Amino acid sequence: MFTCDAFAVDGPDKTFHPFTFERRDPLDHDVDIEILYCGVCHSDLHTARSDWEGTIYPCVPGHEIVGKVRRVGKKVTRFKEGDTVGVGCMVNSCGTCDCCRAGLEQYCEKGNTLTYNSPDPETGKDRYTFGGYSKRIVVNDNFVLSVPENLDLAGAAPLLCAGITTYSPLRHWKAGKGMKVGVAGLGGLGHMAVKLAHAMGADVTMLTTSPSKEADARRLGAHHVVLTRDSENLAKAAKTLDLIIDTIAAKHNIDAYLNLLKVNGTLVQVGAPAEPLPVGVFNLITARRSLAGSCIGGIAETQEMLDFCGKHNITADIELIKAQEIDKAYERMLKSDVKYRFVIDMASF
Ligand code: NAP
Ligand code: ZN
Repeated sequence: MFTCDAFAVDGPDKTFHPFTFERRDPLDHDVDIEILYCGVCHSDLHTARSDWEGTIYPCVPGHEIVGKVRRVGKKVTRFKEGDTVGVGCMVNSCGTCDCCRAGLEQYCEKGNTLTYNSPDPETGKDRYTFGGYSKRIVVNDNFVLSVPENLDLAGAAPLLCAGITTYSPLRHWKAGKGMKVGVAGLGGLGHMAVKLAHAMGADVTMLTTSPSKEADARRLGAHHVVLTRDSENLAKAAKTLDLIIDTIAAKHNIDAYLNLLKVNGTLVQVGAPAEPLPVGVFNLITARRSLAGSCIGGIAETQEMLDFCGKHNITADIELIKAQEIDKAYERMLKSDVKYRFVIDMASF
């Protein structure tokens, strides 16, 4: 074991503080990573504040990790000291169920090991994983990604969650030329959805509550912007979209968004508010619409997304912060004041 510096939170209404804990030394298939940058996802906030309940404290969030390989276990062949690598939301899965064998580790039937706040069988029965708000992480090599060398490393960190969570449904529902894709919510996930859908060739409509983000939405790649607080705007945009990626982190009126779908359209919920979202079934029935959900993406697909971003030179638009500023970043995130992802600089520890 070795001592690792981190920032942790001790309860739903507590602030972050410096924290040290023990990480395992690399097992045969492990990669020991010196973390350089870690993105701040709204899921970190949901977990730190126990919005979804069940958070184990102290909690060290962080699942948008980019760093350099420091050491590798004896049986690791794909990585070596000095490589630039990433780690996303999962650090292990059973590897044998139908989902894992299909490259859908995010839906592992036995339950995967998440990067933080997850029971950690590899370190010990009663231990929970600690995430990327820390200086180092040790991860099974199957869950370590290669980060293309041409990408800015701080801007690449958010690809590991915000990037793959939007790339996966865009690919699954075949976003591309001729498809009209709406993106609801211009935050971390939403701005990646806009960039990725644009790069895939889709016609992109930004659905935002924030008039101040309109110009940015267009700069990021949206062809149209609908300000959703105005019902007239929503009426004008009714039945115009084939697919909506809904990234909204709070309770919202899902019917208002379903109405924007054409016949056979699909709304994919990736945003994860804690409260149930009521749905008027007639909005589904009268236009054969689908309401779907999607969880991050598998490991092979995450590598595919990173390579796609390398090819198209896509990274997140970020505000680099010090670890001491995490609480302030959370407060801004709650006010939808994110441009468009906070990333922690580990050199600030
Ligand atoms: P974020 O950066 O805070 O962005 C969320 C955006 O949603 C806001 O910027 C805002 O955009 C919009 N919004 C917020 N409150 C709203 C409201 N009451 N009504 C309408 N719009 C509202 O959050 P994020 O990191 O992108 O994460 C978004 C959600 O996805 C979170 O719930 C997170 O837990 C979840 N998530 C899910 C997965 C998955 O695998 N499915 C993975 C990662 C994250 P505008 O200002 O443009 O309106
Ligand atoms: Zn996330």
